Amino acid sequence: MIRHCCGIFGVFGHRNAVELTYLGLYALQHRGQESAGIIASDGKRVTQWRGMGLVSEVFTRESLQKLKGDFAIGHVRYSTTGSSTSKNIQPFLVEYAGTSLAVAHNGNIVNAGLLRQKLEASGSIFQTTMDSELLIHLIAKSQGNFKEKVIRSLKQLQGAYSVLVMTEKQFLAGRDPHGFRPLWLGRIDGAFVVASETCAFDLIQAKPLREILPGEVVFFDARGCHSYQAFSGRKHSFCIFEHIYFARPDSNIFGGSVARVREKLGINLAREHPVPADMVIPVPDSGTYAALGYARHSGIPFEMAFVRNHYIGRTFIHPAEEIRGLEVKIKLNPVAELIQGKRIVVVEDSIVRGTTSSLRMKTLKNCGAREIHMRVSCPPLCHPCFYGIDFPTETELVASTRTVEQIRKRIGVDTLAYLSPEGMLEAMPLPSEKFCTACFTGKYPVPVRDRISKLQFENQPE
Ligand code: SF4
Repeated sequence: MIRHCCGIFGVFGHRNAVELTYLGLYALQHRGQESAGIIASDGKRVTQWRGMGLVSEVFTRESLQKLKGDFAIGHVRYSTTGSSTSKNIQPFLVEYAGTSLAVAHNGNIVNAGLLRQKLEASGSIFQTTMDSELLIHLIAKSQGNFKEKVIRSLKQLQGAYSVLVMTEKQFLAGRDPHGFRPLWLGRIDGAFVVASETCAFDLIQAKPLREILPGEVVFFDARGCHSYQAFSGRKHSFCIFEHIYFARPDSNIFGGSVARVREKLGINLAREHPVPADMVIPVPDSGTYAALGYARHSGIPFEMAFVRNHYIGRTFIHPAEEIRGLEVKIKLNPVAELIQGKRIVVVEDSIVRGTTSSLRMKTLKNCGAREIHMRVSCPPLCHPCFYGIDFPTETELVASTRTVEQIRKRIGVDTLAYLSPEGMLEAMPLPSEKFCTACFTGKYPVPVRDRISKLQFENQPE
């Protein structure tokens, strides 16, 4: 099971800040479905509403009315670090030195364990098991004005963070110097909005201005918006998996349209691994655009032969391992009449453990598919992610210890082929050196010597 990272959204200077944040979180729901929260400020007082579940389950008309103010930050979450409990819901809010301080974070801090040990040794008491809470403690212990405190604190973090930080009067958005996770700046009715993905701007009809740059910290206050480049000389490492799987196809991130990139991945896949067949079918939803690309390039008809049940949530989201098999079976149902007796190309965005794919292919066979040719729109996933995507451990990744032929047998298809690393990088809207590809190559752009302390961090008592 891959657990997604999180989604963040913020508004500064709009009388409907709370409602806009609520809608923004709806658009970002695919980035986190375990919990949701909004914290708002009217310049004097901060109010919050947070809960476990989907945005539609957490908020009611009444709860939204309790949130007051013209600026707000919101968060939807999966548990990439820290367990899935109400204590770990974001945004976090603390009171210190007569000020309210709220943080919403997307990413994963790789030196979290060491930093936490240091902070605890100097008297900090943590309320949660989340790496995101570190930033609050670091800010509280830093010297200087708000801007200086935040920048000093961010400089101590290593790894992936796109963050929103808010007090009663101030609001900022920041992105780690490698830019692992996306973060966009936009405008609506003269107010500023910030979101993990541009699909959130589309919903509220905000105008996307630009991506917040890696290492950039943007402060918003009564005088406007001020940008600082807090880091220099770091290599960009945009998460390539956002384009392959995580981000919504109607978003623009890392210099290009997600839908277009996926279509290109499919075209390259068809170029590299052609096969005679009667139809190309996607594993919806994230395989859809790659399958369209494959069909277009190969000239093989595209069919929606899997029907997705949209009302059960994404397969990857539930932390409870034991229900995974059941979810796979109820999520996608093949259209038997389309499949019977046909040679089928199935386009998948990725293969993680292989168990989900194997169950899906069994359902196609049961419907009478004559041949099944699986095509995967990225190279084999062999290494875990330490930057905010909760891949299984190395040994659980099916490709880490098996050849393509062994995986083919395990999944039970006639042929199996993955897109090459070159084919994947060629489809990206930016030069290849701008992307993190560590889960394919094992070359981690930020050292993960804190692997052990990460585990220690996750094992902190609740
Ligand atoms: S390791 Fe993979 S999933 Fe993690 S940030 Fe890098 S490309 Fe993304």
